[in-house]
Amino acid sequence: MNDEWPNEQDAALMQQEWEAEQQAYADIARMAEEWQTRWPNHCRACGGWGASPIRHYHYMEPPDGGDPCEALPEGRCYRCGCELTQPDDPCELGTCKTCGWRFDDGAPSW
Ligand SMILES: [Zn+2]
Ligand SMILES: [Zn+2]
Repeated sequence: MNDEWPNEQDAALMQQEWEAEQQAYADIARMAEEWQTRWPNHCRACGGWGASPIRHYHYMEPPDGGDPCEALPEGRCYRCGCELTQPDDPCELGTCKTCGWRFDDGAPSW
């Protein structure tokens, strides 16, 4: 029995996990940059989500209900700044006529 710790196998596994994590961070950073380049007029306050997204340790989840972001004038798209359609339900946000945004897309982020 080799009870040295960490043994070589564990060390290799840890190294692999660490690299995967670094890769995931890099991917998100690159996606966020692409997203921001694509939508230069997005709302900086909410990152284009239209509300405070739910933060998880490793990712952001689109907001589920909650208070809409108030950084933009009402009826403006949080992603491209254009006009939103009038929603049937006044509690909801409309859909963007220009980019199709619908309260569920924002800059990728941790
Ligand atoms: Zn906002
Ligand atoms: Zn839009």
